[in-house]
Amino acid sequence: MTASTRCPAPTLATGAEVCGFRILRVEQLPEIRITAYESEHEKTGAKVIHLHCDDRENLYSIGFRTPPADSTGVPHILEHSVLAGSDRYPLKDVFNELLRGTLQTFINAFTYPDKTIYPVASQVKADFFNLARVYTDLVLRPRLLKETFSQEGHHLEFSNPEDTSSELTISGIVYNEMKGAYSSPDALMYKIIQENLYPDTPYSFDSGGNPDEIPLLTYEQFKAFHRAYYSPTNARFFLYGDIPTADHLAFLAEMLAGFDRVEVDSTVKSQARWQKPSSIHDAYPIGREDKTTEKTAVNVSWLTAENTDYATAVLLQITSGMLVGSAAGPLRKALIDSGLGEDLSPVTGVERDLKQIAFTVGLRGTDPDKASLIEALIIDTLKNLTESGFDRDLIEGTLHQVEFHGKEIIRSTYPYGIVLMGRSYHTWLYDGDPLEGLNFPRIIEEIRKKWKARPDLFQEIVRKWFVDNPHRLLSVMEPSKTCQAEQEAAFKKKMSRLKASLSGPELENIRKDASALKKFQAEPEIPGAAAILPKLSISNITREIETVPTAKAAIENVPAMIHDIFTNGIAYLDLAFDVSDMPEDLQPYLPLLGKLITNMGAAGFNYEEMAKRIVLKTGGVGYHLSAGMAVDGKKNWQKMIFRIKALHRNIRDAVNIISDILVAGDMSNETRMRDLIAERKNSLHASVVPSGHAFARRTAASSLSLPAYRDEQWHGRSQLKFVNRIADQFNEIKGELLDKLTLLQSMVIRKERLSINVTADSEGISLLLESAADLVRRLSGNGGIGNPSIPALTPIHTGISIPAQVSYVAKVLSAPAYADPLSVPLFVLSRQLSSGYLYKHIRVQGGAYGGMSQYDPMSGTFALLSYRDPSIVNTLNVYREAMDFISRNKTSGEELEKTIIGTIGSLDKPMDPSSRGYIAMIRDFTGLTDEDRLKFRNSILDMTPELLLEAASRYFTSAADSAVVSVYASQENLQKANESLEPKLNVETLT
Ligand SMILES: [Zn+2]
Repeated sequence: MTASTRCPAPTLATGAEVCGFRILRVEQLPEIRITAYESEHEKTGAKVIHLHCDDRENLYSIGFRTPPADSTGVPHILEHSVLAGSDRYPLKDVFNELLRGTLQTFINAFTYPDKTIYPVASQVKADFFNLARVYTDLVLRPRLLKETFSQEGHHLEFSNPEDTSSELTISGIVYNEMKGAYSSPDALMYKIIQENLYPDTPYSFDSGGNPDEIPLLTYEQFKAFHRAYYSPTNARFFLYGDIPTADHLAFLAEMLAGFDRVEVDSTVKSQARWQKPSSIHDAYPIGREDKTTEKTAVNVSWLTAENTDYATAVLLQITSGMLVGSAAGPLRKALIDSGLGEDLSPVTGVERDLKQIAFTVGLRGTDPDKASLIEALIIDTLKNLTESGFDRDLIEGTLHQVEFHGKEIIRSTYPYGIVLMGRSYHTWLYDGDPLEGLNFPRIIEEIRKKWKARPDLFQEIVRKWFVDNPHRLLSVMEPSKTCQAEQEAAFKKKMSRLKASLSGPELENIRKDASALKKFQAEPEIPGAAAILPKLSISNITREIETVPTAKAAIENVPAMIHDIFTNGIAYLDLAFDVSDMPEDLQPYLPLLGKLITNMGAAGFNYEEMAKRIVLKTGGVGYHLSAGMAVDGKKNWQKMIFRIKALHRNIRDAVNIISDILVAGDMSNETRMRDLIAERKNSLHASVVPSGHAFARRTAASSLSLPAYRDEQWHGRSQLKFVNRIADQFNEIKGELLDKLTLLQSMVIRKERLSINVTADSEGISLLLESAADLVRRLSGNGGIGNPSIPALTPIHTGISIPAQVSYVAKVLSAPAYADPLSVPLFVLSRQLSSGYLYKHIRVQGGAYGGMSQYDPMSGTFALLSYRDPSIVNTLNVYREAMDFISRNKTSGEELEKTIIGTIGSLDKPMDPSSRGYIAMIRDFTGLTDEDRLKFRNSILDMTPELLLEAASRYFTSAADSAVVSVYASQENLQKANESLEPKLNVETLT
């Protein structure tokens, strides 16, 4: 991560010609420590942006405008297929080779409604250019084999592959991926709004592919789409990091040699504006046992300004933040307080990734007959705001949020370069200025000036773009118990009709093609082909580990860890309370305590006033529940962790806010309590289908260790069932609930349970330490920590029925903790299985979107998982065969070297400053020292095929007995699986 506060000196001048590129512009952005270069390749017209800074995690990405003309998903299927191989790299799956055998810190591809982007990142220069070289060749010169199209897109096959009298069906990775997406209510809602708000543009089609239309795509159309849109002329290269611009341009010149200008009209046309509002009704699937009342979502959306009108775009974003961004937002509050629905619709907010910006707001957990009331309430509230204006603190608070988030160095699952790339594309893709949206501090300054000159600035945005804007869509998404069964029945009918229309020889051809595809997938790569890929050797990898600066101290006798790290003027405070001895019957209430206490009133302020204080003075208040096994596997730790972050100037206020919440948090407002419980219930519910594999893993793992049990109880299906029950019985139990939560609060928030973690630079640290001491003095203490509560663990193989067209299959085994000699080989084996056997048999041959393995020494579990999977029984067979295979076959030296490099790459993923401080705290709870980590890393680097085989055969032979299976799938698919499974799954409904 970057540590300086100045931008690099320019190394090229505007107008210069470098390696066939003309430098169009050089701009220094000191506020974000970047020097930006915009250039164009003279021969092909390829456009290039380089953001030069001192971040060593360099990012390389190629993007194309790819507006679709139908919903066959051609951009998405291409996105998967180009990465398979090229003439220079004639493998069947180059992407997987790069994924497993390089030090990439990020490698992926994204299909958007109007663009396709291929980003790679690495912290090692040689590795970075290896990756960029291969990616560019794949994208510009892919082989696009017929087999790849069939595998990634769609193909016909028989349910019993060799038997032409068995059922005819369709498979394909994108096909199954999209079936999963079409089972998620949130994804469907988003899609319906987009398609109907922009009916005369490419946005009326699904670039990802509608499962009903994917099978219509032909191989010729697929290749033609590549020819038309994947030319350097239609390409945008976005580069970021500390490698000098001239190096990039020299590299790109080599990559673009031999290409000419190919003109294609890829411009995305704007939607013509409506003269009057419109509406749409649609349905999403729910389980047969679910109730249908209070399950509808009602949204109102507007088509607003062009993305290239940057000034308006930012004002819209800020206005949206004021309206609905916090509990103090007047539109959010009006909707929640109305009681017309349970909580805000998850698609609420501004959508910037389209040519014209959309704003959506609505409620879920409502009924269709309330749609017009909700619409009227939204419009009336906005109208009133145009007259009354916004609360001044709310405006200040929202501007503070933008300032904070523009300043914070974030490296979550994406490199920071990806965040900047996204901001750049909002304008660049539509031929606007690519640098306009980058300099957040300056943008906020300008908005403050405008607001000063025109106090009604934000009211006018509301008037112009919402109240007086007739391009408005009312969308109503109703639950349906039958739509999925109907879809499946219609599909079956279509397939049997298709089958009846085919002659014997035609059916035989389908069998032959499918069998040829399976054979192609099963064949090993051409000998020596993988050796063509540029790669690093293990000897190039450092044997050192990266450590987090840590000092130990005590604040008013409370143990504290202090991490002096460059955080760009932001300070982070974690307050971790030991919850290991909380009584068993109160454990499931802990997540509710976190949710409620951080979102309600405190110290005489009501919840709205607290929300305003939080947006004005902090970058957010959060809580997290976490449990883990100590390094030696003998003890466990369980913590409730509160976190607050703030700019230096606000540290004192921010710590005061969290003190008020913890010490004087007041949960007695019943209405607010009910609303927050509904919000938690709905968000847990909505996360089941998109992360079905995580839910299945938790369910299966919960009987294997205490940390895994707690994880499931706090974040899994048990928690969902628990919150559901609380929400259903709220009126009867609210008094008792408040008593329990208040009791829990008084038990948890105690001085002797606390440990403090501080992450900031030296100025921030001294400010935080002062304030934290005040906080500790406010906490009550006396009494120690009791014996841990230990629940009974009973392993059961379960099938959980969910309304989804695809399945999620988990098999979890008990595994040792960190210090065990098996932990290193298991860590390597889980990588090896993920990118090897499971990838090949579950994804490539099985057609599932994903197949993977995870070893977690902190919960003592080893998991085999599938994601958006068309099968259950076959996948469980693959798991058994995988364990058997890896216990009997020695990995080749070449394979192992790749796995080792990939494993080290996964350990070396860069972290942002706040995560570095956080992980140091978690390591401390676990008892994991830097010496342990160094030993762990070096044991990975020294792994041999013999050691790996010995460990696999030892572990899988004995651990297989502990394996627990959990499958999340539709009732029908679970029943069908149970016909042949032994032991059978105990089938239950989700809630
Ligand atoms: Zn995909």
